[in-house]
Amino acid sequence: MTFAALTEIRAGLTALSEQGLLRQRRMLQGAQAVRVQVDGRELLSFCSNDYLGLANHPALAAAVMQALPDMGVGAGASHLITGHHAAHHAFEARFAEFVGLPEALLFSTGYMANLAVVTALIGRDGEVFGDKLNHASLNDAALLSRAKFSRYAHNDLAALARLMTASTARHKMVLVDAVFSMDGDVADLPALLALCEAHDAWLLVDDAHGFGVLGTGGRGSLAHFGLHSPRIIYMATLGKAAGVAGAVVAAEYDVIIWLLQKARTYIYTTATPPILSAALLASLELIVSADDRRAHLQRLIAQLRSGLQAQGWELLESATPIQPVIIGSNAATLAISAALLEQGILVPAIRPPTVPVGSARLRITLSAAHTDADVAQLLHAMGNA
Ligand SMILES: *Cc1c(COP(=O)(O)O)cnc(C)c1O
Repeated sequence: MTFAALTEIRAGLTALSEQGLLRQRRMLQGAQAVRVQVDGRELLSFCSNDYLGLANHPALAAAVMQALPDMGVGAGASHLITGHHAAHHAFEARFAEFVGLPEALLFSTGYMANLAVVTALIGRDGEVFGDKLNHASLNDAALLSRAKFSRYAHNDLAALARLMTASTARHKMVLVDAVFSMDGDVADLPALLALCEAHDAWLLVDDAHGFGVLGTGGRGSLAHFGLHSPRIIYMATLGKAAGVAGAVVAAEYDVIIWLLQKARTYIYTTATPPILSAALLASLELIVSADDRRAHLQRLIAQLRSGLQAQGWELLESATPIQPVIIGSNAATLAISAALLEQGILVPAIRPPTVPVGSARLRITLSAAHTDADVAQLLHAMGNA
């Protein structure tokens, strides 16, 4: 008996491989850092989202070790059964205070947090609007909500205004990456909020790449723009600049209590290990006092951009640690990434469908743990590549 579906998958894998689109994992030994051990080799890495260099910070490790005898490893249940620990609660309270929002709710991942917010607040009679370059988790959240899903060209707020004006939906929500994950540019949140106010809509701000990096004390993109509104639902991930794992949604008190009733990715899943919340509390204290790290990061961004521009590479308008170099074809992007690897440098080649066809790119991400010499080494290698 032939198994047609398995044969089709094999043909699909062959096709992906021939197009240079087959995804493969590298294997790290040791901790996430600027210099990583990959397949037995030490490489200088420009690919993590560990923007402040906290993923392997001794204060976070110490917080975990101190909490461990008290809390054990697993949470053992979902939050609504018996998995909700005082450490989770303490982190939520501290986070809400830190970002200046009334209440916060901890999730296992940012992906789950986005699914939660959209599906709990918008249904079949609603309409969801999203920037074309939004993260996949926001798109999936819109689809799962069963609402009408309208996408607009990247940053085209006139197009968004037309879509919102034409909408007859009872409930509306705009979804946006505050910092776009593959381009590194910052969304015009004040203009988006004004549109949401004019059209009586929610605004979900996904600050995966802004929290810890932007705003005074690293409070994120809302602080960066000085925005406050009961329409805003703020989502920060905790596995990037915060250096741990998970995500947190902060909003009006009643919005959070509503999520607690309705959000299936909150209700039907095991709580994160409470030791991670102990680490997150330590991380928040590091983030708020990391002005020197953020200033160093800004200097590295300026050094990298001016060096790459002098070599004639095509950059995007990005003032964040995400610095894409647009190449175009998949094959050329892979070849440059491979040439860098030969020189001991890890820079990922990002290809469709993660980015639009024809805009394959190197995605350089900087961390405050990089030195000027690390960036100089990357520039030298890019010159050779
Ligand atoms: C990484 C990321 C997420 C997902 O967060 P996880 O905690 O890794 O699941 C969501 N949105 C954006 C914009 C991201 O970059």
